Amino acid sequence: MKRLGIALVVSCGFLSACSQEEQAVEAPQPKSVTAPDVAVTTEHAQVNEKRIAKMEQDEPGAWLTFGRNYEEQRFSPLQQVNRENVDKLGIAWFKDFNTTHAVQGTPLVIDGVLYASAPFNVIYALDAKSGEELWRFDAQVPKAHLRKACCGANSRGIAAYEGKIYTATLDGRLIAIDAASGEALWEVDTIIDRSRSYSITGAPRAAAGKIFIGNGGAEFGVRGYVSAYDAQSGELAWRFYTVPGDPSLPFEHPEMEMAAKTWKGGEWWKIGGGGTVWNSIVYDPEFNQVYLGVGNGAPWTRILRSPGGGDNLFLASIVAVDVETGKMNWYYQTTPGDNWDYTAVQDMMLAELEIDGAQRKVLMQAPKNGFFYVLDRANGELLKAHRFATVTWATHVDMETGRPVENTDKKYQDNPQWILPGPAGAHNWHAMSFDAGRRLVYFGSHDMPFLYAMAEEYNETGLYKRRENQFNLGIEFGSLEKMMDESDTAPDTVGHLNAFDPVTGEKRWSVRQKAAWNGGVLATAGDLVFQGNEEGFLVAYDSDTGDVLWQHYMFSSMVAPPISFEVDGQQYVSIMTGAGGGFEDDSADEKYGSTGRLVVFALGGEMDLPIPVERNLEIPEPPPLTANAEDVDRGRVLFGDLCGYCHMPSVFGRRGNNPDLRYMSAETHELWPAIVLGGLKSNQGMASFADVLSAEDAERIRQYLIARAGTDRAEALSAQAGAE
Ligand code: CA
Repeated sequence: MKRLGIALVVSCGFLSACSQEEQAVEAPQPKSVTAPDVAVTTEHAQVNEKRIAKMEQDEPGAWLTFGRNYEEQRFSPLQQVNRENVDKLGIAWFKDFNTTHAVQGTPLVIDGVLYASAPFNVIYALDAKSGEELWRFDAQVPKAHLRKACCGANSRGIAAYEGKIYTATLDGRLIAIDAASGEALWEVDTIIDRSRSYSITGAPRAAAGKIFIGNGGAEFGVRGYVSAYDAQSGELAWRFYTVPGDPSLPFEHPEMEMAAKTWKGGEWWKIGGGGTVWNSIVYDPEFNQVYLGVGNGAPWTRILRSPGGGDNLFLASIVAVDVETGKMNWYYQTTPGDNWDYTAVQDMMLAELEIDGAQRKVLMQAPKNGFFYVLDRANGELLKAHRFATVTWATHVDMETGRPVENTDKKYQDNPQWILPGPAGAHNWHAMSFDAGRRLVYFGSHDMPFLYAMAEEYNETGLYKRRENQFNLGIEFGSLEKMMDESDTAPDTVGHLNAFDPVTGEKRWSVRQKAAWNGGVLATAGDLVFQGNEEGFLVAYDSDTGDVLWQHYMFSSMVAPPISFEVDGQQYVSIMTGAGGGFEDDSADEKYGSTGRLVVFALGGEMDLPIPVERNLEIPEPPPLTANAEDVDRGRVLFGDLCGYCHMPSVFGRRGNNPDLRYMSAETHELWPAIVLGGLKSNQGMASFADVLSAEDAERIRQYLIARAGTDRAEALSAQAGAE
């Protein structure tokens, strides 16, 4: 079953996570529901710089920002739950989100209220002790926007600031919500060009009277930027573009003039350029700057963006900009001329470390490209660049020049190449945690190889044919599954949880995990490291040894990070479940489907989770195949190009929560044109593709699915017969 291991790379690769809706499972929800018998006061969520600065002394049990505090170290100083008693952890309460989409969020816990962000930006305010709902805010994201969002209805988090909760919606709006009442106070459109497929899945950050937010959509051909809005009024304070625009127009700010010199010969602005800041933005009060984690190029292949070469600033960079003015203080580019979807959007942590005898204020990041970076926050100086997973695209980072040295054997322009990391990265958006006392960063890494090849039409014609506002990678996608299938040289897919020393680059310990795509990490002063995994276990590891001290089965896979908080003297550990579909054999999501749920543990907790019904994985008998082989083959390529990023090009096997189209009922076959061209299921996220698909091509895709269902069903039945 090698193919499946590889396949998950395709499904989750560039995707911040992958999920779509299988059925219309979400009940209609009112815009804001306030439970009448719970007192909410106007003092709610009065978070500001002063309070965050004093939280370690005043309220170590709070979780005030996305990464807990401004340093975003995600280390809980609580130690009521520790390695002596962790086996007494049990469920205190849980809250169902009624969604099968991936749940990636980090909640906030402020004054005994837990604020959580569920898919499609449904925000919950819950009593942190009991789970009782105080209010619920539904941003009313149009479900059809899913077609413009590569990776599902994800919402990784929210911000709290001076009495307001901020959410940035999948369709690109920034909304300020009254933390007391759950009512929207204002809403702004953060998208500069609605003709392009922008989306937002990341958490806004709040500081210095401003809300900072980026966006995603590089795979669809957008131009990245970050906006800062006044936290009170929603007025735009500044905007920093991450890649240059149309050179016939004036530069928006001086940094764009500088960046434009590093883009050569192409017409990148028509394609978008990429450089989206879709995950990490970190505020640093010590330098009064925010760090922007900038994403990959659009399209992925550099020769199509910038055929004359160049570094293509500020792709795959960490950029420090002044909080007040939005002017750049410094940048560090992790992957000059990105050619592989190597985003530097992964979580960034701020800390102080002694390096070569000197105390440094540092920024740490483990981006997709496989090197763990330690930068000096004062000036962006590269202090360390440690390889932390299998890396074949580069041999090392030259510490003199600060640049990676590319492996010339791995150029894929002429020949398809298996390369590590793949677009899933050696580490993705899954949260890391830093235990400063042990000087260890705990995080999951993975080897998820990918077969990079130039787009087939490029090889045929020398031209890159781009579909307007569609998934445009510039690498072969339509035939990728076939190519992977036919390749017998795929490297292994593996995942690890690491205790990593950011100074030496050594791993104190590293646990090989059963699956590769696992959740974010929380370390605590109780000498524990918590992580949810794809198999479906929330696990507590010993911080020193990596030994498993406790685990709890959650009946769903996890990608979200755990957090810990304290209310009235009781420590809690919580995590959101539901990966939006498991991607590997024996995952909980594959077995039961994805359950979007917040689960909260405490010592002595005794609740049980409901046991879900196991899924039937047998492929039903498809309708008769009527197309010829040529049409089926055309359908295969179209499916890979147009349907794959949601319906997973090669991870058939009913793994994702997106409908596995081999399982289509006779009725769905009947309704195919109405769904695919008529938009019948728009309100479930399946918008019409009539703008890019003819009726004949839509039918070719269906015929391919019939052929594929027939083959796979026969194979499964024969394997079953063999086993019996
Ligand atoms: Ca990407």
